[in-house]
Amino acid sequence: MSAERVASLTSWYADWRGLKVAVLGLSVTGFSAADTLAELGAQVLVVTEKADPEYARLLPVIGAELHVGPLDAVPAVLTDFAPDVVIASPGFPPSHPLIVWARENGIPLWGDVELAWRVRDKVVRPDGRPADWILITGTNGKTTTTRLTAEMLVAGGLRAVPVGNIGTPVLDAVRDPNGFDALVVELSSHQLWYLNLQTGPDALSPHAAVCLNLADDHLEWHGSFAAYRDAKAGVYARTRVACVYNKADLVTREMVEEAEVVEGARAIGFDLGVPGPSDLGLVDGILVDRAFLEERATSALELTTVADLAEHGLAAPHVVSNILAAAALARSLGVAPGDIHDALDRFRLDPHRIQVIAAHRGVRWVDDSKATNPHAAGSSLAAYPGAVWVVGGLLKGVDLADLVRSRGAATRAAIVIGTDRGEIVAAFERHAPTVPLFEVDHTETEDVMARVVELAADVARDGDTVLLAPAAASFDQFASYADRGDRFAEAVRAWIAGQDEGTDRP
Ligand code: ADP
Repeated sequence: MSAERVASLTSWYADWRGLKVAVLGLSVTGFSAADTLAELGAQVLVVTEKADPEYARLLPVIGAELHVGPLDAVPAVLTDFAPDVVIASPGFPPSHPLIVWARENGIPLWGDVELAWRVRDKVVRPDGRPADWILITGTNGKTTTTRLTAEMLVAGGLRAVPVGNIGTPVLDAVRDPNGFDALVVELSSHQLWYLNLQTGPDALSPHAAVCLNLADDHLEWHGSFAAYRDAKAGVYARTRVACVYNKADLVTREMVEEAEVVEGARAIGFDLGVPGPSDLGLVDGILVDRAFLEERATSALELTTVADLAEHGLAAPHVVSNILAAAALARSLGVAPGDIHDALDRFRLDPHRIQVIAAHRGVRWVDDSKATNPHAAGSSLAAYPGAVWVVGGLLKGVDLADLVRSRGAATRAAIVIGTDRGEIVAAFERHAPTVPLFEVDHTETEDVMARVVELAADVARDGDTVLLAPAAASFDQFASYADRGDRFAEAVRAWIAGQDEGTDRP
């Protein structure tokens, strides 16, 4: 198929028949892409190293082909297929042989989000327009902000849904027969890298976008911090109404300044300080909007208060930050302050995000297993100064020294777990040598978390918090960050039950 014809495929109602698409990876997004394309009449070959049995069973049913095998070199089945387009799952890094092959051969390379953008007109609103897209990225706080934004939009009477990296593929929402007013799309840096390959008038143009913050993460995938940053910066490209940035993280402002946006799009700042005109921020414990009102030079709109948020466990500084970002996005679509307040009244953080597991004999046990990088762990440590810190796992090429330098000395003790313990211990020895350190070696300890809890209980004093904020990935010891958090919670509960039993005995 000619390059022009591929480029012209920018509608659900275009003629997709005969298009040959290779879908790389059979994840939830890979399947959504294959399924959509098969429905559109394209010829689909899915190439993957591992296949979920359920998806593998469904592919022939929907009329797509499947090749399962090693992908460290381009398989013959792929070259023979000679695809017109390659759609890669976000797990494939730019250096992957298949990605290199597609680019060297000039084959258009899309992600699932690009495909979703092209077919977003399947179901339109009564006025004929497809749903507005709101894009959310950042090193940390994406999922929380995505959920917050969607809840605020729904409270404001819009049909909105959180999609993307959060778990539901964007294509599932685009194909929903009822349609939506707004899609709130969480984007990982991987998805953005693929989106950034697309340029020109038909490329994704969001209503509003935010990069919440930027710190080291996923450096192995991108190859360098600069590449990771550039991927994230792409979130603002072609924004139509509001580029929301973090005043406390200047690199996000630079991203907005250098972005090619649609004429008239505004830069809206947020942080925990007093807001200027065009910002959202805090005044005497009140969250206010000074951006989306006519009289912004002289007044501000109250959204909620930190005291109200504290009642629902939403007052940690990084959570307030996420709330302000979400409010900016919701305000950009006209949601009223009262509706934002209502949405926050109902909102609860997901599990494993500064989740209080138990308070027992003056010690609080907190699960922030989702803190999988130093920036996230830093925000938890700031919310719980003096904590007994459970840290470690797989560092993914990220350096923990800065975090230990800035926050390590204020911890009561550190319990170091996981494969990359050596680097963490060395960082403490250098930057916080007086902090007591305990190591748990998972290759020698049957139940890592039981041992962690035993050690933590031993050092924690009345009024302390034991904080699981590992600053690292979990896969060396656990199935996922959720599994890591669950095991911690189980161990805490078992330990407390054991203690209480002990006291009850005569
Ligand atoms: P993501 O989807 O980006 O991983 P989440 O909302 O799931 O983000 O939060 C992940 C972890 O990041 C939380 O457990 C918390 O430790 C930390 N975090 C959340 N928001 C922020 C923020 N704005 N700044 C720094 N850390 C944050």
